[in-house]
Amino acid sequence: MTGSKAGPMLEIDRLAKRYGDTVAVADVSFGIEKGEFIALMGPSGCGKTTTLRMIAGLDTPSGGEIRLWGRRINEDAPWEREAPLVWQHYALFPFLSVAKNVEFGLKQRGLPAAERRRKAMEWMERLGIAGFAERGVDQLSGGQRQRVALARALALEPEMLLLDEPLSALDPHLRVRMQSELVRLHRELGITFVCVTHSHSEAFAMADRVVIMSEGRVQQIGAPREIYRRAANRFVAEFVGGNNLFSGTAAAAGEGLLRVEGPFGTALAPRPADVALREGGEVTLVVAADRIDLGAARSGAGNEIEAKVVTLEFVGSSVTVFLETAGGAELRIQRSLRQIENTPLSPGDAVIARWPQDEGFFLPA
Ligand code: ADP
Ligand code: MG
Repeated sequence: MTGSKAGPMLEIDRLAKRYGDTVAVADVSFGIEKGEFIALMGPSGCGKTTTLRMIAGLDTPSGGEIRLWGRRINEDAPWEREAPLVWQHYALFPFLSVAKNVEFGLKQRGLPAAERRRKAMEWMERLGIAGFAERGVDQLSGGQRQRVALARALALEPEMLLLDEPLSALDPHLRVRMQSELVRLHRELGITFVCVTHSHSEAFAMADRVVIMSEGRVQQIGAPREIYRRAANRFVAEFVGGNNLFSGTAAAAGEGLLRVEGPFGTALAPRPADVALREGGEVTLVVAADRIDLGAARSGAGNEIEAKVVTLEFVGSSVTVFLETAGGAELRIQRSLRQIENTPLSPGDAVIARWPQDEGFFLPA
């Protein structure tokens, strides 16, 4: 039975999982559209793997429902779900060759040997591991093993591929390559990918939509841009990184603006319609570190904060400048090396941090 094809492909509805007194997943709801690339992101222990295992059928929910095309599948066996799981540690059979590993699921399904071989070869070629077909998997690098695990899962031609931290065992340079390879595969195959990661850069680089979790609950669901530019709460704003959170006292500033005054100084930002922010109330303004510019003198436009350079941190072609305001607040600014190459900065320098008013937003009360 396929059920209705309208609505999301997969619905996670108030899903919960308890192990004795431990609540691994408290209350998780979200939908997945066919062909989407969804990232489940959150800190270690927040319930990502448990959620994925329940989708795969490797764990039974303690509460809530998982529906595939509208049909409850809570108790369906893994092989009935067309959703193989690719693990961080590959989970390959060390005694079998690459080809035998890739063929494994097909053999279980009872495909004749010749057809198994043909299909396995097709996927090995697709993933660039055909040259190692007869090698033992213990003679492969981490990146090659991950490709074998992917080929083994994809050879089953699933409707949905589940990936649990697929890149975290790889070296940093390989990780970035595999990341773009997963995006390419997803685009070419057109199937649904659900990928667990604790890395916001990975999630944001790959996924159409990101589900951010904390302590077994969903904190925000949205496109990477949406989440990055409009965090729904303090947890998300802090977890996605690269944000400045300025807390202070609110005051009306006319024309749909709200002024906030705190240890960082004074700034204006659009007054949110959906939040009961009162004059005199405590508010938190969020400004992304890469939206703040640096200058030597005031220009009179936008928000401008006087500060001193504390330190500079260089990572690749990007630099984070840590500043301290007169009131003792920390402020971080992210620039590319190019953007600051004509502005030499040293600890102790007095600078002006500035950003347009509409680049800041208030966290909901
Ligand atoms: P994540 O993948 O986000 O790091 P997990 O889903 O693995 O988190 O785990 C969520 C919580 O549930 C953790 O506190 C973990 O210790 C607990 N947990 C997971 N699996 C089990 C289990 N089989 N028995 C007991 N507790 C578990
Ligand atoms: Mg995990």
